[in-house]
Amino acid sequence: MSTILIVALPTPLRRLFEYLAGQQDPSSLQPGVRVEVPFGNQTLVGVLVDVADTSTLPADKLRPIHAVLDSAPILPPDILALCRWAADYYQHPPGEVYHAALPTQLRKTETAPPQTTFWRHTTKGKGLPEQALKRSPKQQQIHQLLLQHGRLSDADLKLFDVSRAALRALADKELICGERGEPDQQPAAPLNAELMLAETPQQLNAEQQTAVDRIRYHHYQTYLLEGATGSGKTEIYLHAIARSLQAGKQVLMLVPEIGLAPQTLNRFRNRFRVPIVQLHSHIADGERANNWRAAANGSARIVIGTRLAVFTPLPDLGLIILDEEHDLSFKQQEGLRYSARDLAVMRAYKADIPLLLGSATPSLESLQNALAGRYEHLILTKRAGSARPPRMETVDMRKEGSNGVLSARAMETIRQTLARGEQVLVFINRRGFAPSLLCRHCGWVANCTACSARLTLHSQPCHLHCHHCDLQRPVPGKCPSCNYPELNALGQGTERCEAILQQQFPQTQVLRVDQDSMRRKSAMADLGRQLEQGEPCILVGTQMLAKGHHFPKVTLAVLLDIDQGLFSGDFRGPERMGQQLIQVAGRAGRGDLPGTVLLQTYQPDHPLLQLLLREGYHAFARSLLQERMLARLPPHWAMVVIRAESKRAENAVDFLKEVLQIGRDLRRPSPEHAYLGPLPALMEKRNHRYRFQLQISNARRAELQSLLKNLVERIETIPLAQRVRWNLDIDPQDMS
Ligand SMILES: [Zn+2]
Ligand SMILES: [Zn+2]
Ligand SMILES: [Zn+2]
Repeated sequence: MSTILIVALPTPLRRLFEYLAGQQDPSSLQPGVRVEVPFGNQTLVGVLVDVADTSTLPADKLRPIHAVLDSAPILPPDILALCRWAADYYQHPPGEVYHAALPTQLRKTETAPPQTTFWRHTTKGKGLPEQALKRSPKQQQIHQLLLQHGRLSDADLKLFDVSRAALRALADKELICGERGEPDQQPAAPLNAELMLAETPQQLNAEQQTAVDRIRYHHYQTYLLEGATGSGKTEIYLHAIARSLQAGKQVLMLVPEIGLAPQTLNRFRNRFRVPIVQLHSHIADGERANNWRAAANGSARIVIGTRLAVFTPLPDLGLIILDEEHDLSFKQQEGLRYSARDLAVMRAYKADIPLLLGSATPSLESLQNALAGRYEHLILTKRAGSARPPRMETVDMRKEGSNGVLSARAMETIRQTLARGEQVLVFINRRGFAPSLLCRHCGWVANCTACSARLTLHSQPCHLHCHHCDLQRPVPGKCPSCNYPELNALGQGTERCEAILQQQFPQTQVLRVDQDSMRRKSAMADLGRQLEQGEPCILVGTQMLAKGHHFPKVTLAVLLDIDQGLFSGDFRGPERMGQQLIQVAGRAGRGDLPGTVLLQTYQPDHPLLQLLLREGYHAFARSLLQERMLARLPPHWAMVVIRAESKRAENAVDFLKEVLQIGRDLRRPSPEHAYLGPLPALMEKRNHRYRFQLQISNARRAELQSLLKNLVERIETIPLAQRVRWNLDIDPQDMS
């Protein structure tokens, strides 16, 4: 009998692989270590997930592994279990799931842990009184940290954000010295309670206090914290975090993708004097791997990250918080199409700890869970401090005169706001100058040759751009179809809006915020600083503006194109429109100044819009839940979308027809189980490929899951599966 190793490898195959242990020391073969193995004629790094006595394969088919790369498991049992669950639930190749849980750097063969420098006091430094360096606060900070901890590595000091110059200055004075060594696996000494709070927590109002008191720290429970912008959700997070830290626990804080993390980080650093690390895509691979290790060995006490951070090993995890839980970026839209929110629920459940989901505009999924009693619903109705909710008004664009972009009323309100020395935000969810270029003579439109989409006209610099495949073209001087010498920009984008406002208000700074203008890493932070100075200005931007940033001097928000959401081909369109509208409105009047929100619409009487404006998001969302129930849509029904793409449309359609047939054989349609499709996707052609989809939904999630298991196995045997790109999206968030 020999030892068989079950290894997860990053391949698109939906299975694990078996290897022989070879000459490896059996004690080193613990699930969770990385191994290097031969695979065909390649060498791959995989994760050892199990050890067995017998194999399903004949012994001569098995090959020994090359090497064990870690002396101890780097993925602990709870993360292995989470990966297993995710692979199973999302019907995804398991190797890719385990692989995704590792930071990029650890996906390669790297064995020796990197050397680092450890800093400690010299005898002279140790003798120095505690306050001796208080005239130089940065040196004083290091002095105190070393008095407290004895010895700290470079990585530790980085966590505390200490100045390198101060470190060198202390070394020059021979007060401290560094020595090279391997990084510790030992967590830093636990900190005592006073040291954990760098600033005094804010006084909570009664509503906030009730919410904080209802959280129980020793058991699993998901809480939905629903509170309007400015109602003080963050302060509740900070209180909950303090409680967890004081109990010796680590905290995982998940935030949406764009821009939020640095802002949150600063807020947290001001409050907690404990090591805090970030895990998101703006951090270089090396630093990310270091941060990941600090989380995994327990030295980092708070981890702030985007969706992938849900897989981070945390030995003392005591609390998970997911802020802006409705945000689309928590769902990965390619590869492993997982929802970090749903995985966080599973992780909290298995770890038996609380999970806090926060939002001013909860997703219908979470709201439904709260209304059904599966989540505990914590509601904040009041704005914290002196801030008042903004006044919302519609501008009927059928009656109002406009300059093509902004109504006369909006222009006048902007002028008055600027004259009072306040700031204005104009929200338009299209970047570029105009969404299309048109010949008024023959009707020619600039279309992308690779996608069923129009090319966006940009003015800075002047070019045509496809936002779906990135195709770029110069702007033709005359109509390519009829040679008419003039082409017209049709519709409006951020650049056009910026140009019009700059022309109307030449003395005022107009700042554009979209993917194009915010390309630089620090662009958002720079913008924040500029706004804080408080000069009157106009911000023009896309939904990037709606993501939780704090603009205390903005008192007027103008929303230009909210109507699209009401008539979207995606059943989530109205939900997203409502969330966006409330999130943008929440940017106005957060300080002591009251805010005004103007909605330009051609549909001022639309019942959903009226409901949203009169009774607020909660009533609006409950009404959408009713509609979804009648339409047998999520969250009441569980749904999967099977997508297929091919350069030949008939391949994608025929493939999905076969999938449909297999599905029907396995489970006939019924009042509880439905098939829809194959249908063309909302964008039928993208990057030269035709896109079709098949929807399957069932009133019960478990039944859909068991059908999918059988279905996926059979799909892989369809010959056409080799000729199309296909994927499975469970609980799809984006139907485009
Ligand atoms: Zn023409
Ligand atoms: Zn563009
Ligand atoms: Zn394109």
